[in-house]
Amino acid sequence: MNIIELINKKKNKETLTKDELKFIVDGYLSGDIKDYQMSALLMAICINGMEDVETYNFTDLMLNSGDKIDLSEIKGIKVDKHSTGGVGDKTTLILAPLVASCGVYVPKMSGRSLGHTGGTIDKLESINGFKVDLKREDFIKEVNDIKVAIVSQTGNLVPADKKIYALRDVSGTVESIPLIASSIMSKKLACGANKIVLDVKVGNGALMKNLEDASILADTMIKIGKNNNVEVVCVLTDMSQPLGNAIGNSLEVLESIEVLKGNGPKDLTSLVIKIATIMVSLGKSISYDDALKEVEENLKNGKAYNKFCEMIKYQQGDINNIEVSKRVFSIKSSKTGFVNAINAYELGEITRKIGAGRYSKTDIINHGVGVVLNKKVGDYVLQDEELLKVYLGDKDITVGEILECFEITQKLDEKIPLIHKIIK
Ligand code: URA
Repeated sequence: MNIIELINKKKNKETLTKDELKFIVDGYLSGDIKDYQMSALLMAICINGMEDVETYNFTDLMLNSGDKIDLSEIKGIKVDKHSTGGVGDKTTLILAPLVASCGVYVPKMSGRSLGHTGGTIDKLESINGFKVDLKREDFIKEVNDIKVAIVSQTGNLVPADKKIYALRDVSGTVESIPLIASSIMSKKLACGANKIVLDVKVGNGALMKNLEDASILADTMIKIGKNNNVEVVCVLTDMSQPLGNAIGNSLEVLESIEVLKGNGPKDLTSLVIKIATIMVSLGKSISYDDALKEVEENLKNGKAYNKFCEMIKYQQGDINNIEVSKRVFSIKSSKTGFVNAINAYELGEITRKIGAGRYSKTDIINHGVGVVLNKKVGDYVLQDEELLKVYLGDKDITVGEILECFEITQKLDEKIPLIHKIIK
């Protein structure tokens, strides 16, 4: 077997066997297969796709390329969630404590920012002192003690994905359904949850730009779950505009706290309630309506917020010490009309440019920078009325670049629903 033969096989739309895929995964991890060869193979997969059986085998090989987390010491059903990534998507910060406050175990391993999208771990690190690198036994103890912990992924979890993902990021091969499905599911399965809710984002700020592709991605991940005896529910949700109002690490934590206190933006709050209800219903094997009652009650009675504070304290964070940049500018609309669209992708890129995200692995994030929207799609805005506030650090941005993200019109296009559909 040699890699050139296998690249040609995929180039000619043939199906790779499990042994051939193993040769590829092992060879790339050991360094025998070079980046340029792997890039060629990934591009062939991007263009020609994978048969279902190839996607399952590839997921399995990545899953078994490193350590798996054994969560058997946590006695009870463990429910995980994952988002395929978006702009202003801070749902994990709210969902994990909210669902735990309803009595479900939520051992959560999260990632850092990726491209134009933010990462939960970076957001949590804007809370002074908060520890994300916990030893396995401390992670399990925390979940057993308070039902929830959010930590960063351990060093040797799915190393094949880590290496392949980094290469995809720089070789134009991120947007492939089988590659995304196997990447996400290998990591989720390695984290050991019994049930998983996946928030599959759709729109210009997401990896899946249309509903059809998002549905295929969801179906693929559900089938991978079934093959591994893990129940997966996919919620397909809008990412054509940012979620909530805040984009940027500290700003997103502060907005999450507002949601947990019952004062958050409408879109973010209703999405959180939907996903939390599915998680609680799965975790406690109760009806959707019963789960919804518990979720809504715990948002109102402060239990969800208290659980968040408990988790922050447990992981040594100081909730009263979250720094936001003091260089704040108000950006005003240049005309009167309806906000017909907000380009989530471009706003994500702008926040990355001002320091909220990274361009290379070694970049240091400025947690205090970002934007807070004052207007969302559907709102009416007057000329010179504030569209958003920008929180700057030492990197600047022009007003023109920001205004280009907004489409102001005299008539509104048809409203895009926040939740497109649920697939089980
Ligand atoms: N998130 C992942 O973890 N992997 C992908 O390929 C895309 C999004």
